[in-house]
Parts: sequence; structure tokens; C-alpha cells
Amino acid sequence: MSKNLNVQMSKNLTVQKSKNLRTMNSFGFDVRALYFAAPRTSEEAKMAASEAKELNCPVLALGGGSNVLFTRDYQGLVLHPCIDGIVVMDEDEECCRIAVGAGVVWDNLVAYTVERGLGGLENLSLIPGSTGAAPVQNIGAYGAEAKDAVDSVEGFYLDDLSDFTLDKESCRFAYRDSIFKRELKGKILITRVVFRLSKRPAYSLSYGNLDEEIRKYGEPNLDRIRRAVIEIRRRKLPDPAELGNAGSFFKNPTVDAVKANELRAMYPDMPIFPSAEGRMKLAAGKLIEICGFKGARHGNVGVHEHQALVLVNRGGGTPAELLELSDKIRKAVHDKFGVDIEPEVNVI
Ligand SMILES: Cc1cc2nc3c(=O)[nH]c(=O)nc-3n(C[C@H](O)[C@H](O)[C@H](O)COP(=O)(O)OP(=O)(O)OC[C@H]3O[C@@H](n4cnc5c(N)ncnc54)[C@H](O)[C@@H]3O)c2cc1C
Repeated sequence: MSKNLNVQMSKNLTVQKSKNLRTMNSFGFDVRALYFAAPRTSEEAKMAASEAKELNCPVLALGGGSNVLFTRDYQGLVLHPCIDGIVVMDEDEECCRIAVGAGVVWDNLVAYTVERGLGGLENLSLIPGSTGAAPVQNIGAYGAEAKDAVDSVEGFYLDDLSDFTLDKESCRFAYRDSIFKRELKGKILITRVVFRLSKRPAYSLSYGNLDEEIRKYGEPNLDRIRRAVIEIRRRKLPDPAELGNAGSFFKNPTVDAVKANELRAMYPDMPIFPSAEGRMKLAAGKLIEICGFKGARHGNVGVHEHQALVLVNRGGGTPAELLELSDKIRKAVHDKFGVDIEPEVNVI
């Protein structure tokens, strides 16, 4: 990259140079972006992407930074979409479709839907991050996933700036996975997500102790589900504002039935759940816990005391320390169980 990106791209869009991203990644690591822009419209985002392309400058989409691990400074343009707006597209007696800007804070969207009696997102209350990132890993919690409510995803390709709209099937959603983490990884910017929400919600209460928690407030309704989920999450998960983390660092692995039976015989208490395509899902947190890492320290990073799936920056930690710890955990789990665990967090 010989030339520099224009600092003032338009009246409304400026590009910052050597932007510190410490407050833009929930681990709180001290990393910088060579260039940083926060477009408020799809057109502004295209303007920045187009200029970056001309200079052969890589582009990274960054929402709230709650699912990324920067291993070093980013030598390119970080595009942080601040595209706002929640618009009702159409509705009937059964459901309502809303189009939501990629920059809308996810939990503000959940609050909006719950206040209007629209069901589908309530179990996903308090997940950090932006709406634009929700389809990327098909966020999920308490028995629900974003895919249950996504109607389509809109955006543009970074190479030729052409627009796309992908319907739910084309997004190839799976457990913490989608086309945006695979074929389209690094190739697109999501600008808007359309959700189909129910006016006659069917509540999903069977996960863990959710039902019991809700009944403390009374008969289940959207607002009570939201309150219960928020309550449980606040109890269980560290707040990144106080302790740097990115939620679950690893995905729950799946194994075949033979391996599952083998593990069940050796560890009768191990949680094992049926998963897609006849496979069985293991709780990565439990595997890490059995390996003795719960509450472990590694320099200034470590494993959370109450939730072994959450790696934390205890203050002053570095990405290198976190990667070392992650490798150590993966090796220990592999050696003990013969099971590979993969990061859920996007390592950049
Ligand atoms: C305390 C805590 C709890 C969490 N709990 C959960 C949970 O229960 N369930 C769950 O699924 N996740 C959970 N997460 C992870 C995280 O909140 C979600 O993955 C969230 O969707 C990330 O949103 P973000 O805007 O911060 O994305 P970022 O971290 O900024 O980005 C994540 C990925 O998406 C890409 N991306 C972001 N925006 C766009 C865009 N507009 N277009 C294209 N690509 C984009 C990025 O390039 C990156 O690869 C948790 C995280 C924390 C810190």
C-alpha cells in the first residue's frame, strides 16, 4: 500500500488513522487499526470500501468487537457500520417483518421487539454486539438462535460493491456458523438484517432452569422471559466492562455415538446432548474444567472462575498470552479426551 486513504471521504465520513481499538474489542487488548471508518449508510460504507480496494488495503468489518481476538495491529481499514434504524416492512395478524440496520445494538433490538409484543428474540436478550454481526455466527442462547427469526440478510460484496440479499436458507445457518463465517468470510459487509417475528409467540422455556427462573415473576410472557434471561446471564457471565472477555471462547464440539458412549462410561456426569446428523454434542466448558483449567491463570490472562468456557484478560494481558492459553487448553482437551475444540471467537 503506497498511497494513503483519504482522511475526509465525504462531508459525513472521515477516516481515522492509527485508531486505538482497546474500547472496541471486549478483551480490551491494546491494538490499533491502520485506518478506521464508521459509515452511517450503506453508500458511505461502499465509498470507504471502494477507496480501500483501489489501494489494495484489506477491509475488516467490526461491530461491537465482542467476538474477536485481535492478535496484532490490523494493517488495513476497519469498517465499523453505524447504520441505524428499525423499520416495519409488513405485518399481518400472525407476524411482523422488521428491517434492522447493522449498527443497531443487538440488545436494544431485543428490547424493542419485546416492548411491542413481537416474539422470537427474547431468549437472546443481553447478548453483546451489533445486529449486523448476529447472523455471522448465528448467535444463540437459552434454546434459541438468531436463525429462528432471521428472514434475510442484506449487504454488499467488498470486491465489486454489488448488493446481495440472502434468504434464510442461503445463509446456511448452523450451530454458531453461517455462510458469513465460511465462503463469504472477509468478502462482504452486512448492512441490514430482516427478521420475521411472531405476534403469537410460542415461548421456548425448556433450556436449563429458565422456566423456573421465569415463574419467579409469574406466568411466562415476553417481558418475563427477557427479565429472567438477563438475570441469569448477569449471574453467570462476567461483564466485559469489568473483566475483558468475549463470552464462550470455544464452540461445543460434536462426536460420533461411539465416542460419546466411551466418554459417558468414563465420566458419567458429563453432559452429552443429541446434535444434528446423528452426532452428539459435548459441553466444551466441562471438558476444560475436568482438565483443571477453571480459574487458571496464565500471566495476565486466564480462565473464568465460574465458567471454564470464558477466557479473560485480567488486566494488562496480551493477545499472545491469550493464544498461548488457548493452545494449552486445546492440547490438554485433545490429550485427555481425544476431542478437538475449536475457537468460537474470530481470531484476527
Ligand atoms: C459476555 C459475552 C457474552 C456472550 N454471549 C453470547 C451468547 O450467549 N451467544 C452467542 O452466540 N454469542 C455470545 N457472545 C459473542 C458475541 O456477543 C456475539 O458473537 C455477537 O454477535 C458479536 O457481535 P459484535 O457486533 O460484537 O461482532 P464483532 O465481534 O465485532 O464481530 C464478530 C465477527 O462478525 C464479523 N462482523 C461484524 N459485523 C459485521 C458486519 N456488519 N458485516 C459482516 N461481518 C461482520 C466480524 O468481522 C467478526 O468476524 C458473547 C460475548 C460476550 C463478551
